Amino acid sequence: MSIAIPESSTLTRDGLTSQELYDKCVSIASNLWWVWSPDAIELFRDIDPVLWRQFDHNPVRLLREFTPAELDNRASQLALYSRINQCYRLLKEYLADKRTWGANNAGVLGARPVAFFSAEFGIHESMPIYSGGLGVLSGDHMKSASDLGVPMVGVGLLYGQGYFRQLLDKNGIQDEAYVDTDRQAIAMCPALDVDHQPVQVGIETRVGTIFAKVWQLDIGRVRLYLLDCDVDGNSDDDRKLTSRLYGGDERTKIRQELVLGVGGVRALNALGITPGIFHLNEGHSAFGPLEVIRHRMEEDGLSFENAVRDVAQQTVFTTHTPIASGHDRFNCELVEEHLGPLRDALEISYEQMMGLGRVDPQNKSELFCMTVIGLKLSRKANAVSQLHGHVSRRMWSSLWPWRVEEEVPIGHITNGVHVPSWLSVQMRRLYDRYFSQDWMSRMGEPDIWSEIYNVDPGELWETHNILKTQMIRFVRQRVSALSRRHQEEDKAIEKARKILDPNVLTLGFAARFETYQRASLIFRDFDRIDQIVNNSQRPVQLIFAGKAHPKNESGKQFIQSISNLRHDPRFRDSVVFIEDYDINVCRHLIWGVDVWLNNPRRPMDASGTSGQKVIYNGGLNFSVLDGWWSEAFNGTNGFAIGNGTQHVDDDVADDRDALSIYETLEKKIVPSYYLRDSDGLPNDWINRMMNSIATLAWRFSSHRMIMDYTRECYVPAAGGKSCEMNF
Ligand SMILES: *Cc1c(COP(=O)(O)O)cnc(C)c1O
Repeated sequence: MSIAIPESSTLTRDGLTSQELYDKCVSIASNLWWVWSPDAIELFRDIDPVLWRQFDHNPVRLLREFTPAELDNRASQLALYSRINQCYRLLKEYLADKRTWGANNAGVLGARPVAFFSAEFGIHESMPIYSGGLGVLSGDHMKSASDLGVPMVGVGLLYGQGYFRQLLDKNGIQDEAYVDTDRQAIAMCPALDVDHQPVQVGIETRVGTIFAKVWQLDIGRVRLYLLDCDVDGNSDDDRKLTSRLYGGDERTKIRQELVLGVGGVRALNALGITPGIFHLNEGHSAFGPLEVIRHRMEEDGLSFENAVRDVAQQTVFTTHTPIASGHDRFNCELVEEHLGPLRDALEISYEQMMGLGRVDPQNKSELFCMTVIGLKLSRKANAVSQLHGHVSRRMWSSLWPWRVEEEVPIGHITNGVHVPSWLSVQMRRLYDRYFSQDWMSRMGEPDIWSEIYNVDPGELWETHNILKTQMIRFVRQRVSALSRRHQEEDKAIEKARKILDPNVLTLGFAARFETYQRASLIFRDFDRIDQIVNNSQRPVQLIFAGKAHPKNESGKQFIQSISNLRHDPRFRDSVVFIEDYDINVCRHLIWGVDVWLNNPRRPMDASGTSGQKVIYNGGLNFSVLDGWWSEAFNGTNGFAIGNGTQHVDDDVADDRDALSIYETLEKKIVPSYYLRDSDGLPNDWINRMMNSIATLAWRFSSHRMIMDYTRECYVPAAGGKSCEMNF
């Protein structure tokens, strides 16, 4: 069927052929800039809203369903021509803009970018190369580096399956489904070397060579390289080496880390990229500097010691957890098997090599720890919040036995979130109307966010409630879909379609179901939470989401116990568990909740970032004074659980914190939320929303975080100042 295109739209399409129009859409989809550009998101969605949702909001998949002629047809029906042109122009302008913060503040990195290594990158829900907080942080790191114009390349792994998808069975038990990654559906292409040949790297071990090919992805102005072991030349086992994220045994883990660190450095080299800085985001990539050292010895004829000094000067290491088991440790046989050939090239002994991964190099019973080698081979090391800085200095003080704890050289840069990725369109429009025109490019400045006090309180409240209603619609879709999958009765499905009430105070909680996150803490006293939830005048409802690591049985039990509350008459209308927590679920929850609940056992949460995402959308934090919240809470910008103390006995700590949750809900949160003034508005609550935005928004964005890294780590390290060794 052919549709005649009216003359007027022929004009608005600027004389483009169908193919040219299609190519413009492909260009937009090919740069992940679109992920945080509302115009582009709305454009793709409007091309086909049903397919958009079905394909995980993935424009590459979406466009594949259309021929240029069909797309042209859609565009003419919906008058999309000018929007396609506009988006394309915005992307080109973004890429061409030379007046960035980085141009003024990171010039020294111009020819020699920061190489940012991470085992996971959470950029968008359609790209299964992340599991949770660490990945989302890495994605936000790259996006802010792009926005600010800080020269950076990312290095990670392309997982053939990624982390698992969570399915709950009828009994609330978590099933793990592994879905093959459709490489064609990711906006990436093979990375080419200086001779325009696809890059492939080989990493020798004592028992053979592992090969990996390299993909490249554009994230705005920065680029991400992903290594993929599913290549000819690898054994069947090695082809699967990069299949699963955090899914394998020790041997798989060390081989993945070898590919990420050593393979990653080789890939950059093959691409002709000479980084000025190597930033190791967590210990997974900490073998990387050894390869840089080898290269430096070979190229510049340096001794091992001198090469270490030079390379450490350029290396930044970020540690992410106070939990001992969160730091990878390998036995020495595994290390020798995999690092042996590199050790030969470095001309160091077996014991010297093992010593790099040990707190006490002489202690032969000590395992090889990736954090230890990361700390030893970096000049700059940091934790991810102020409190985590203290905890990390204590945790690693034995590496610097001659120093008092305060002088252990681990600083902190508190994590932040990429605001354009986590800000709802509705709130963005509100800020656009009330804030200075250039607020987006100045969001690291406190002054910008003080302008929230100029916003009409009624308008802020209404915007929040639109977002909350939208969140509840999302929850209802997810819960009723689950009910259908379980083939429940029509009555149950019908009920799921109407679950939750937009007028009720709503708390959200989402986390990895690790024991220390204490997901079920709020249910410690069933009768008390029953009274709070079911108060006839001022009820409360709760939304939960989160995955448990496949090997974490107690985490899975937490999930089961919470999701099975839907059979409990006291909680079935007011407590829901959303399956398969990911970036998409997170986005919907943080847009719409009134209160974000976070109750880890202090001080186990190094930073946490999900609560930061809430700030920008008008939600309030209700959290244990741990991680970022311990430096953020000021008494009027949210709510605290406990008073920042700890207890050696977990049971006592849990009792105290549960009590604090109940009392704070009963005495502060619930009354403030439901109190209406004569104008019909909960002005006390709205005030808290404004305080939260005014005092927190500028501090907890990843723009501020990147500015900190640039000023405190990247630029000084690239400047070549003399350095004090970390060991
Ligand atoms: C932001 C985010 C996280 C981080 O959560 P925390 O509990 O704050 O560490 C984890 N998973 C997803 C999918 C996220 O979007």
